[in-house]
Amino acid sequence: MERLVVVGASLAGLRAVESARRTGFTGRITLVGAEEHLPYDRPPLSKAFLDAGHEGVVTPFRDADELTGELGVELRLGTPAEALDLAEREVVVGGRPVPYDALVIATGAGPRPFPPGEGIAGVHALRTVSDAVAIRAALDAGARTVVIGAGFIGSEVASAARKRGLAVTVVEALDLPLTRSIGPVAGTVCAGLHRAGGTDLRLGTGVAGIEAENGRVTGVRLDGGTVLPADLVVTGIGALPATGWLDGSGLRLHERDGGVVCDATLWTGAPGVYAAGDVAHAVNPLFDGDLMRLEHWTNAAEQGAAAARHALDPASARPLDSVPYFWSDWYGHRLQFVGTPVADEVCTAEPERKGFAALYRRGDRIVGALTVDRPRDIMKYRRRIVERDEWTGTPTGKKHESSSDQ
Ligand code: FAD
Repeated sequence: MERLVVVGASLAGLRAVESARRTGFTGRITLVGAEEHLPYDRPPLSKAFLDAGHEGVVTPFRDADELTGELGVELRLGTPAEALDLAEREVVVGGRPVPYDALVIATGAGPRPFPPGEGIAGVHALRTVSDAVAIRAALDAGARTVVIGAGFIGSEVASAARKRGLAVTVVEALDLPLTRSIGPVAGTVCAGLHRAGGTDLRLGTGVAGIEAENGRVTGVRLDGGTVLPADLVVTGIGALPATGWLDGSGLRLHERDGGVVCDATLWTGAPGVYAAGDVAHAVNPLFDGDLMRLEHWTNAAEQGAAAARHALDPASARPLDSVPYFWSDWYGHRLQFVGTPVADEVCTAEPERKGFAALYRRGDRIVGALTVDRPRDIMKYRRRIVERDEWTGTPTGKKHESSSDQ
């Protein structure tokens, strides 16, 4: 094995090159990235970076000297991979083939497009540092803000705007925030956090269009005709795997969203080709072999490291059965989730205590848990999921009586 190519220079890609060197790989490593920046951390972009007191600068995980010197990585930044040739074992970058023996695909995901806002100044998604700089500048100018979509990133932007004392409206097409990802019990709690935080939350409300003057946004037109005045519109309507460059490659892409389909070792089925992070649908043996595509920091870090190890030494590849985990910060509250929300039943746990917890049951097992401001509990629930602990109603052992809803 002489040449490792990693496509996608963010968290999963960085962890891949680090782990390749940690395993003792001395061959050539090329890291290909569409963005011009060195790999940097995304979660702060919708949190601290938007605060009035933040210096507005993003520090990369590692500087260029560390990457090229210490880790001996050849950087190809600002140059997206254009195609993959499985037969020739080549990635095409800048019109030229880059050969590989082992390849890690870590191209992540990009914001789901919002066509009515395209080309209108003041309408942004939030995925990159450039997006965050533009949103921050608008908040600095005191923008009246409308967020389209009450998902995690949009909700964090709303929270950041409120922290600055700005008026913000969140428009959500569903009757509750996040029902598809965490279910209605938790969605109700999330709606409460928005309202307590002073955000004007419009549920069950569709967006008909964007109003603009001289190419700059002036408002959001809702179904029914109401116009919400806005200087800044942030669209947070989900993300799609960045796999356009793999079209026609013969690699198996997921029929719903085009993500890369892998087995539990992150192998795509093509010789030497593994995938990791937000781009990958991987089988998770811990949850009945469910195929999962997660958009979580911890997952990207773990999978990136494992994908490189497995790609360089397929004989040593082992199934990854880690418990998915993510966090999100809203209005000074910390939300944490472990496991999977795909469940037969959801119930609240220990409602008498401060904060909130919901447990997700599938069959006779706990498969997921969501907490708000109960950081110690989340680790306890994680253990119960790993140990395939039997469902006993509530963590106190009392049978849960009435709050199931899924
Ligand atoms: P990405 O970070 O998406 O990186 C993929 C990289 O590949 C990008 O740099 C992209 O430009 C590049 N690329 C794409 N196409 C090509 C190509 N053809 N050639 C070369 N390069 C390409 N997770 C949490 O658990 N908690 C949080 O609080 C949280 N907050 C977040 C806040 C924001 C604003 C965002 C955007 C994400 C947040 N996440 C959070 C999710 C977390 O950041 C992601 O799961 C993680 O970044 C995924 O890493 P990745 O390397 O798989 O993909």
